[in-house]
Amino acid sequence: MDYGMIGKIEKAKRYAEEPERITLHSFTAEIHGDNNTYIVTFSPEGWDCSCAAFKGHGNCAHVMAMEILLKPMLKREPMPYYHGQNIVSDVEKAHRYALQTDRIHFLALEVSFHGENSDHQTTLTGDVWHCTCDFHHSRGVCSHSMAMEKILKGMVPVTSVVVS
Ligand SMILES: [Zn+2]
Ligand SMILES: [Zn+2]
Repeated sequence: MDYGMIGKIEKAKRYAEEPERITLHSFTAEIHGDNNTYIVTFSPEGWDCSCAAFKGHGNCAHVMAMEILLKPMLKREPMPYYHGQNIVSDVEKAHRYALQTDRIHFLALEVSFHGENSDHQTTLTGDVWHCTCDFHHSRGVCSHSMAMEKILKGMVPVTSVVVS
């Protein structure tokens, strides 16, 4: 492996340990609940989930699970509980889902990195990563896409060399 790539792998590890450098702007993810599979989306306009609880009340265990899982990257307050929500049950479920990451698959996401030298935008669409950095342009992977693969291990397609 070449020196440039080794440097990017090292940098990816550092970024993965400093997720507060990353801001999540939007994503679409599938979450396999105990009974059904739901689609959770997040964008600058806010959260959405395809489940009945969210449609009726504007919050649910799926959104709460994603809030737990993605906390340092979300940069916003958690959604409020709704009147009549079974908080004990939903909090338990959200923590369980957030740990059982094989339930979760990201279909698309958009993040920005506050890098050591400059800021970059990194996106995932299906199983294709894009990034605004020069290294990604020439090599198809970069410290940013590798850091996201590491942080969201098992939940995003891995297209780069193994980052362990
Ligand atoms: Zn939901
Ligand atoms: Zn990059």
